[in-house]
Amino acid sequence: MKISFIIPCYRSYKTIGGVCNEIIEQINLREGTEYEIITVNDCSPDNVIDKLYELAEKNTNIKVIDFAKNMGKHCALMAGFRYSTGDYVLCVDDDGQCPVEHMWELVDKLDEGYDVAMAQYGQKAQSGFKNFGSKMNNWMMEKFIQKPKDFQFSNFAAMKKFVIDEIVRYENPYAYVNGLILRTTQKIVNVPMKERAREIGKGGYTFKKSLALWIDGISAFSVKPLRYVNVLGIIFAIIGFLFALFIIIRKIINPAIYVGWTSIMSCLLILGGITLTALGLIGEYVGRIYMCINNSPQYVIRNTKNID
Ligand code: UDP
Ligand code: MG
Repeated sequence: MKISFIIPCYRSYKTIGGVCNEIIEQINLREGTEYEIITVNDCSPDNVIDKLYELAEKNTNIKVIDFAKNMGKHCALMAGFRYSTGDYVLCVDDDGQCPVEHMWELVDKLDEGYDVAMAQYGQKAQSGFKNFGSKMNNWMMEKFIQKPKDFQFSNFAAMKKFVIDEIVRYENPYAYVNGLILRTTQKIVNVPMKERAREIGKGGYTFKKSLALWIDGISAFSVKPLRYVNVLGIIFAIIGFLFALFIIIRKIINPAIYVGWTSIMSCLLILGGITLTALGLIGEYVGRIYMCINNSPQYVIRNTKNID
């Protein structure tokens, strides 16, 4: 049996070597397992690419894909998937946060008959605002892309080859691996384990980057104006609502103000806001259609090593 590991690399000069060693250590535990580690340099601003070439020079099971532009983690995963040759494919982060020592638990789940096994880290300790954000996100995933209730996405996952073959059929920009998994199979399972704390450096995902991933696609220059309209609409809807509250209360306090003005103003503001939001959303979809027929690349590969 052969296992392919895909590691998107970004600002991980110091950690990537350790992650590869840990993986090899685990592979050696089960005899007769072949492996390959496909590292994808997502145009990292540090010199991680030198490190990757150095690792690949010493061990031909380590392969390198070098992106010409920063495309985000999910596009990096897509590239790794396309070049993977294993029966099972495991996604691992480059910063040492994935508990690689539990990888066989994921693999065993695939052997049991599941198509995708994903680590479940449980509730993260985070600020109230971020917590609200992830709750909201979770709810939307359940509603919009049919995520099973209580299923948790994470950065450490194992998948069967046929799932990968299906996922890589998606060639458009705005790749989102979790969404692609959900449209491929229902036999997915969580395996509880603990995520390690980040030891070196800061996460490459800023709040802005995460938000972009959430709406999928910051690179789309020409879609941005449409998105701004959308945000503007939301802001106006909120202002409208607050203003409506204000004038209603004022009317209660001072009944001498005309009723008509109060109600018309609040309706106008709220409806205007909602209309702009809806327009922005339609704009987002039209923009995506535009980017897709535009042949915008999912990624651009500058160079590879140990890949034929
Ligand atoms: N990553 C990437 N491109 C980016 C930012 C991040 O490929 O522009 C990769 C990074 O190499 C890592 C994964 O995404 O493998 C998760 O990144 P990070 O550790 O910063 O996120 P967190 O663990 O906080 O979710
Ligand atoms: Mg991380």
